[in-house]
Amino acid sequence: IYSEGRRNSRGINLNINSQYQPLIDEMATHMDTVYDVRPLLAFDVAADAERRQTVTCPFDRRVTLGHVQWTSAEEASRAVDAAWAAFPRWEQTPVEERAAILERFGDLMETHTAELMTLCSREGGKLLTDGIAEIREAVDFCRYYAKRARADFALPTELQGPTGEHNQILLGGKGVFACISPWNFPVAIFCGQMVAAAVTGNTVVAKPAEQTSLVAHRVVELLREAGMPRDVVQLLPGDGPTVGSVLSSDPRITGVCFTGSTQTAQIINRSLAARENAPLPSLIAETGGLNAMIVDSTALPEQVVNDVVQSAFQSAGQRCSALRVLYVQEDVAERVIELLKGAMDELNIGDPRNLGTDVGPVIDEEARAGLLKHIETYREQGRVIAESSLDPRQTEHGTFVAPVALRIDGIDSLESEQFGPILHIATWKGGEIDKVIDTINGLGYGLTFGVHSRNESFAYKVAQKIRVGNVYINRNIIGAVVGVQPFGGQGFSGTGPKAGGPHYLHRFATEKTRTVNT
Ligand code: NAD
Repeated sequence: IYSEGRRNSRGINLNINSQYQPLIDEMATHMDTVYDVRPLLAFDVAADAERRQTVTCPFDRRVTLGHVQWTSAEEASRAVDAAWAAFPRWEQTPVEERAAILERFGDLMETHTAELMTLCSREGGKLLTDGIAEIREAVDFCRYYAKRARADFALPTELQGPTGEHNQILLGGKGVFACISPWNFPVAIFCGQMVAAAVTGNTVVAKPAEQTSLVAHRVVELLREAGMPRDVVQLLPGDGPTVGSVLSSDPRITGVCFTGSTQTAQIINRSLAARENAPLPSLIAETGGLNAMIVDSTALPEQVVNDVVQSAFQSAGQRCSALRVLYVQEDVAERVIELLKGAMDELNIGDPRNLGTDVGPVIDEEARAGLLKHIETYREQGRVIAESSLDPRQTEHGTFVAPVALRIDGIDSLESEQFGPILHIATWKGGEIDKVIDTINGLGYGLTFGVHSRNESFAYKVAQKIRVGNVYINRNIIGAVVGVQPFGGQGFSGTGPKAGGPHYLHRFATEKTRTVNT
């Protein structure tokens, strides 16, 4: 499958060599940059060697990319003071001006694509194709939310009313938003959260993931260059339990926009609820999933395997949308598994900067250890169906995990999301489909789901019954596009916002109804 060439999610050959060569040449000029960064707050931050963390590269731990100074609890609290003070002024800033900053920011990221891609690769272990998509998505968020803000926030919405009365709805900011983001989309999700909160009139304290602070820092520098005032968006690199909990327990935080694991969302939810004398907050949470795909006996096995490999192993399985459990109808399971084994044999695992690499590293040693432990448990039970191989010359200095397929009896035997290149496979017999759907729904996650079938009524019936945020029929289940596939889940997978969708900005807004007696 992979020897046919690089393809995007629609199967179109990207022809990456010629199309992106100028970008790749430019990336080379950023490969050796060494960084030394501090929090970007409304006030200057003094150097403090004790809080200076060393950043190394996931595919070669011998390489030091630089240092980042983490934010202290006291600085985090001062940042909230500044954000709170800036809120009334920023909320009164015309929507047009706020939207224009987003557009300039998007343009700047576009012109700095090579530099940001290099950081995504060196700090986050991203493949070049993933890096391109990542920056593209961040730019799309800026342009899409700027457009939506102009459409929905610039003017009041007129309402019907009796003669002699004029009724309108006005949208405004809520106050200070804490934006807390994960490492797996260190530019796209990080930007999407910040710009959505800011364009709707809120001020922002943004805490990036520990693992990807350098790229977050560069992104906020560009945001400032685009004209974002330094007290409106502040960057607070630091560890979650320290900086994150200072933010979520501060009574002046009016909303938290969080993307990350379900467990952390629950901690934040408890922390917000435990605040005394604090207004009721908004929690926008986008979390993990136990995403499944159902394949029936009418599906095209080659297409299934192509989509399964992309969904389960692209980005080393480190996508919230990634496929975790494949349910194949028993009659075709043998054929699908045989093809899958062949495809997995061909995967190249290694340095994400090489065009020939299919699967890069996982983010860090802690992640690798957890994934290997899970795989070993299944190996001891003789449940390994297929496994790609690691070439030690490519992988010995990084945190790599070979893609693997494990046999399970059902999705309910899994305790939690395994955030890496691990695919679980179960089979089902004709007549059992309702039971399979009930089992998937019964877990309470609800992020992505796929169905492969040439029986249209079967596919639509399954898609209708499954309780998830994003359902895909006869394609892979990753790579949602801004404005095209608004993305977000339900249940344990999140509070249901649809990032990149027409209603997302409203989650950050207050609504005021104004009635005038004319
Ligand atoms: P994580 O929950 O460990 O961390 C996310 C963020 O929360 C980080 O910035 C971290 O520092 C911070 N944090 C940690 N403890 C905290 C605390 N006590 N208080 C406040 N903040 C705290 O997640 P991760 O490992 O960075 O990311 C992977 C997870 O994110 C996976 O579960 C994945 O499914 C999920 N994810 C979901 C989506 C989505 O849109 N649904 C998108 C990407 C990733």
